[in-house]
Amino acid sequence: MLPGAWPVSSKTVASMIIGKSKRELEKMRAAGQLVGRVLQELRSMVKPGVTTIEIDRAAERMIRDAGALPTFKGYHGFPYSICASVNEQVVHGFPSNYELQEGDIFSIDCGATLDGFVGDSAITVPVGTVSTTWLDLVRVTEECLDLAIEECRPGNHLGDIGAAVQQHAEAHGYSIVRDYVGHGIGRRMHEDPQIPNYGKPGQGPKIKAGYVFAVEPMINLGAHHTKVLADGWTVVTLDGQPSAHAEHTIAITEEGPEVLTRIAQKQPVGGSIAASN
Ligand code: MG
Ligand code: MG
Repeated sequence: MLPGAWPVSSKTVASMIIGKSKRELEKMRAAGQLVGRVLQELRSMVKPGVTTIEIDRAAERMIRDAGALPTFKGYHGFPYSICASVNEQVVHGFPSNYELQEGDIFSIDCGATLDGFVGDSAITVPVGTVSTTWLDLVRVTEECLDLAIEECRPGNHLGDIGAAVQQHAEAHGYSIVRDYVGHGIGRRMHEDPQIPNYGKPGQGPKIKAGYVFAVEPMINLGAHHTKVLADGWTVVTLDGQPSAHAEHTIAITEEGPEVLTRIAQKQPVGGSIAASN
């Protein structure tokens, strides 16, 4: 088990989806908003010359200052508070002394546990001036996530989420990472069901109000194949072509999707957090 994205397995999906009460959703909203604010700050730190370990340290400090825990740190032995994945790195990259370079694309995946509940979100940030080809990959990955979020409503099926991602990404000639998937989320970062970024409309279990999903398209410019580096964590594309990642934690409500990790407007990390007593 890995932070941020389940390795896909063939186990039966949806057997154990845990619905959340209103009170639990309030706590998840607070955790989600914290992660959203942290990522907003981290995005503003990204520029050529900044090391990815500096960004990790800033994330950990902001999360702890808010009274939360960095969910990834120690998760099955993962040593850092963020996953820092540059260019051909897909997910689960280690923060390091690598200095970000003009033209890189840098994916930051971040999780925080606040008052017993987890928020999980990821962004891919262009570093300085980035080629149009790579910028398009980042933009389309974000669009894939937005389209997937629209499918997160009661009465739809799990397959509708993956189908939305797959159709949009493949229409642009990109490929979908298949070895890692999104997931249910709550008291634990990785709950049922697994949420692949591919699928067929109308297939899979029905989506119900009270479910909370972490949806996270991982989209490759080249082929979908990946491998894990010798550190045992860092996932890279097999062909060395770049990959982009975008993730939100989304509550399914009767009214439709509520994106718990999306920040409506710029707020300080230390700003007010929704009451969660
Ligand atoms: Mg994540
Ligand atoms: Mg995740």
